[in-house]
Amino acid sequence: LVSSGVRAGLHVIHIAAEMAPIAKVGGLGDVVTGLSKALQKKGHLVEVVLPKYDCMQHDRVNDLRALDVLLESYFEGRLHKNKIWVGTVEGLPVYFIEPHHPSKFFWRGQFYGEHDDFKRFSYFSRAALELLLRAGKKPDIIHCHDWQTAFVAPLYWDLYASKGLNSARICFTCHNFEYQGTAPAKELSSCGLDAHQLNRPDRMQDNSAHDTVNPVKGAVVFSNIVTTVSPTYAQEVRTAEGGRGLDSTLNFHSRKFVGILNGIDTDAWNPSTDNFLKVQYSADDIQGKKENKQALRKNLKLSMDDPMQPLVCCITRLVPQKGVHLIRHAMYRTIELGGQFVLLGSSPVQHIQSEFEGIANHFRSHPQVRLILKYDEALSHLIYAASDMFIIPSMFEPCGLTQMIAMRYGSVPITRKTGGLNDSVFDVDDDNIPARFRNGFTFLSPDEQGVSSALERAFDYYTMDHESWRELVYSNMKIDFSWDSSAEQYIELYEQSVARARTGANRA
Ligand code: ADP
Repeated sequence: LVSSGVRAGLHVIHIAAEMAPIAKVGGLGDVVTGLSKALQKKGHLVEVVLPKYDCMQHDRVNDLRALDVLLESYFEGRLHKNKIWVGTVEGLPVYFIEPHHPSKFFWRGQFYGEHDDFKRFSYFSRAALELLLRAGKKPDIIHCHDWQTAFVAPLYWDLYASKGLNSARICFTCHNFEYQGTAPAKELSSCGLDAHQLNRPDRMQDNSAHDTVNPVKGAVVFSNIVTTVSPTYAQEVRTAEGGRGLDSTLNFHSRKFVGILNGIDTDAWNPSTDNFLKVQYSADDIQGKKENKQALRKNLKLSMDDPMQPLVCCITRLVPQKGVHLIRHAMYRTIELGGQFVLLGSSPVQHIQSEFEGIANHFRSHPQVRLILKYDEALSHLIYAASDMFIIPSMFEPCGLTQMIAMRYGSVPITRKTGGLNDSVFDVDDDNIPARFRNGFTFLSPDEQGVSSALERAFDYYTMDHESWRELVYSNMKIDFSWDSSAEQYIELYEQSVARARTGANRA
């Protein structure tokens, strides 16, 4: 790659379990695509390695084709063949690994939640490194994400560096420390790692269960760069309350650990070009937003009597982290305050899904509330465009993307002050924040009172001061949430790490 700038372009390879829009469960998928596109735009060579899921959106992969060669990779004592596919997603070159393993690891109709996820993803991590080795790749950075590809870090240094795949520094990003992928130590040997050597307190041993290995801990220990997705969350996970058992590990490795706020993909999330909307609009021509609000209300058979009636929305995975009980409370409080409420969400937790199905059923023909309990990309765009306020009462939130998307679509966020929400939403009434940065309503205490107080302040502001509300919507839509500055921070970390390796190599 020839770089036009002063700096030479880096070669970065992401190994990940998700990539938007073809294989997305949550924010991880958005980040892999958003960050990669931003890096590519800045002149770096970026490639992505993904499993070839049966349930991915094949129609959004361009020029998908299988390579002639079969890649052999090790698992559970023998070599298995893998078919390798290549294609382009959002302009990014992607390799897909399709294992010919009797367990049909990625032919399950879903991305996660299988009984053998540890096997599925340790297999994939190893096969991905094998692919890079066999293809003769010489990346500067191998960037792995979350526990599913955390295995890459120890596999690289313990096995692949000595096989000749030794040009890279390893960057690991943890998008949520809640999910650490722990498993009985003996399972680690399936992918060829030395379970005995690694099941030690200073390596991969879980900090609370001693016959258990923890892939996220392993990646923290073995990576050159460790990041998480916001500065506030990076602080929170270094405390006993927030660290999910990894606070001591993160503190020990604090010199290589930083929080970088995610951006959003401002091409995909752009109300002036968004084809999912009834009417496209922009900060300078906001009229279309009202038409989207009416369109959503019509679609969902909600009352359309008062165009000014505030519409509060929420789009989320319904898991305890997201404060599901507070979302429920916000719904009831919104009706009491005279607003409308729309929830788009689905839950992998059976009892939560059942509870919300009960509520959805209760409100199924209510003029002011609608719950849509599924994953629906198209509907999510219309909801962002239609909504006046967007509620996110998370118990913790590593970064959160929905508050940024909401602001870009002119919806004012009402959020709990935690993690990335604390780094992107600043209260309109907070005198400690310069006025130009204030953009929403926040609350600290994770309880019904906290939610109510912020919601009530938002309703007051909306109903009493139309002009100020319009200005707030206008300035929120103009905030730069692109990946541009965050990608710059990643590049700086990558470059520092590469430079350190070169200095070390020169000394040796
Ligand atoms: P997390 O990664 O914890 O799920 P984020 O806020 O980082 O939360 O990212 C959520 C992303 O998933 C956003 O792009 C949001 O629009 C999308 N999303 C969440 N639930 C749904 C749903 N039911 N239908 C469509 N999109 C959804």
